[in-house]
Amino acid sequence: METYSNYPVLEINLDGIYHNAKAVVDMCREKSIQVTGVVKGTDSYENSYAQIAAQMLHAGCTSIGDSRINTIKRMRQEKIDAPIFLIRVPMACELKDVITYTDISLNSEIATIKALNQIAYQQNKNHKVILMMDLGDLREGYIQEEELIKDALFIENQLKDITLYGVGTNLGCFGSIKPNNTNLSTLVSIADKISAAIGRKLDIVSGGATSTLPLVLDGTIPKGINHLRVGEGIVNARDLQDIWGLKLPMLRRDNYMIKAQVVEIKEKPSYPIGEIFVDAFGNTPEYFDKGIRKRALIALGKRDVGDIFSVLPKLKGATVEGGSSDHLILDVTDCESEISLGDIIPFEACYGAMIHATYSSSVTKQYISV
Ligand SMILES: *Cc1c(COP(=O)(O)O)cnc(C)c1O
Repeated sequence: METYSNYPVLEINLDGIYHNAKAVVDMCREKSIQVTGVVKGTDSYENSYAQIAAQMLHAGCTSIGDSRINTIKRMRQEKIDAPIFLIRVPMACELKDVITYTDISLNSEIATIKALNQIAYQQNKNHKVILMMDLGDLREGYIQEEELIKDALFIENQLKDITLYGVGTNLGCFGSIKPNNTNLSTLVSIADKISAAIGRKLDIVSGGATSTLPLVLDGTIPKGINHLRVGEGIVNARDLQDIWGLKLPMLRRDNYMIKAQVVEIKEKPSYPIGEIFVDAFGNTPEYFDKGIRKRALIALGKRDVGDIFSVLPKLKGATVEGGSSDHLILDVTDCESEISLGDIIPFEACYGAMIHATYSSSVTKQYISV
C-alpha cells in the first residue's frame, strides 16, 4: 500500500472515473442519449476538479455540469473549454458570471431569464436555457405545464440573446420521487408541444440524473429523452448498486478511498459505562452489549466525512460502531489480520463522505490512476 506523510488521505482514482464515464456514455449512446458529466461535489481546496472533468470529456461526455460559479470559473482558468451547464437555477447576484463562464443554464423563472438576456446582449454573447419542469419531486421547476410552455414561447419569440435549448426535469432529490416511464413521458410530451409550437425540434430533453440510468439499462426510458446529467453514477457509482440493488459490474465503486490511521487500540466493553445521556451531537444512539471487544480508534471524524456510516472499511470482519467529530470507532475483534497502533485502514467513501472529504481541509487529497 502507498504510504503518505499526512493522514487522513483521500485517494481519487482518475482511471476509475474515466472507466465509469465511458461505461455510462456507452449505455446511453445505445439509446441516443448524450451525457453531461456532473462534477459538483468533487472539488477541493488543494486540487481543482478540472482533472475529473477532463476524464469525463475524454470518455465521451458532451459537456460538463456544475452547480457553483466559483468552481466553474476555476475550470475555465484550467482550460476546460467544453460546454458547461450551470445545473443549479441561477442566483440574481451571479448572472454576469453565468453568461461569462457557462454556456447553458437550467432555469425556472422568466424574470431571471429576461435578466440573463440583457446581460448576454451587453456581453455580446448567446446563452442557452433549459426550462425545468417539476414532475412531482418539488425542488426546482415549473409545476404548471401551461406556464412553462408560455414562457418557452416568450423566450423563443422575444428574447434575442437567449436560445431556448430544451426542457428538463430533476427527480429523486427533495421528494424522493423515482423516475419512471410515466413521469418522463410527460416531459417528452411537453417538449413535443413546444417543438410543434415553435416549428423546430428542441435540442435537449433532459430526463434527470443518475437515478434515471436504471431506465436506460432496462429499456423503459421513453423515446424522446435525449440527455442526462450524471454525477454520482460516474464518480462514485455506489447508489445504484448499494441502494437500488442493481448489479452493475461495469461500474467501479472504489474510486474514492479514504485512508486513516489507528491512534489507539484497546479491549473495551461494547456497552457504555454509567448513565447514558446524549452524545456530542445531542443524540442518543442505541448501544448493544456484545461483551468485551477489540476496538481500533481511528483519526477520522464527522468533520472529515459527515455521517460516520458513509465510509465502509475495506477490512474483512471490521465494523464501524460510531464516531464523533474527530474519531471513528472500529470494532476489529473479528478481523483475520492483527490490527496494531499506527496501522493505516482503508475505507470506501460513499457520496456523502466523498463530498465532505473533498472539502475538508484536514484531509489530504491525492489523485491516483490505477
Ligand atoms: C446534482 C444534480 C445532478 C447530478 O445528480 P447525480 O445524482 O449526481 O447524477 C443533475 N442535475 C441536477 C439539477 C443536479 O442538481
